[in-house]
Amino acid sequence: MSEEKGLKIVILGEGRVGKTSILAKYFKNKFNEGEKSTINPSFYKKKVNHQGKEIELNFWDTAGQEQFNAITTIYYQNAVGALIVYDVSIFETFNKVKSWVKTLQEAVGKDILFVIAGNKVDLVGKNAMEENKSEIENYCNSQKCKHFFTSAKTGYQIEEVFDSLIKSVLSKAKSGNIGGQRRGKRLELAEQKEEKKKKGCC
Ligand code: GDP
Ligand code: MG
Repeated sequence: MSEEKGLKIVILGEGRVGKTSILAKYFKNKFNEGEKSTINPSFYKKKVNHQGKEIELNFWDTAGQEQFNAITTIYYQNAVGALIVYDVSIFETFNKVKSWVKTLQEAVGKDILFVIAGNKVDLVGKNAMEENKSEIENYCNSQKCKHFFTSAKTGYQIEEVFDSLIKSVLSKAKSGNIGGQRRGKRLELAEQKEEKKKKGCC
């Protein structure tokens, strides 16, 4: 299974917000009520036609490391886009979105493209969603990113969130902004460390 030739998209967010479930709903049209914490990193491929060329998109899921704050630079390496998920029934997980964005930008670069999903809307009423709407809108406007309310359980806006992410990634590819090596600060530091180790330095 090679991910080298495709465009890499990663999924991020706190543990249990529904990342694995969103991917499973989109790629397998399945929802598992008692989805266990992911044990192995999963990887989904999707081929799309773009300007007469077949482009492979590789969607990476975590192995549950986010619950221990242990996502490594390899997970972010060369990502061209990200889906960041929070749980609308636990609004603190939205505040954590901001740190995920920061970490992602440090790892891959400031111009990394991402879309936010407020998942599990089936669990909350309309009023609860209205309450936090302006905070969400302000943040998304400041970051120039799209936001969708989703439900991996009912399938609500799952297609829409992926369509939007894929469109943005492809339009950036068209403008020639992606496809090369992406090196954020953290990756560069990790690589410098490796290099020093090889040379037997420090
Ligand atoms: P992850 O840790 O972010 O990958 O989260 P999971 O996909 O493993 O989901 C954690 C729990 O939330 C599981 O019990 C899922 O069945 C449940 N879950 C995920 N998405 C939804 C949703 O949209 N609605 C509801 N009601 N439950 C969900
Ligand atoms: Mg998971």
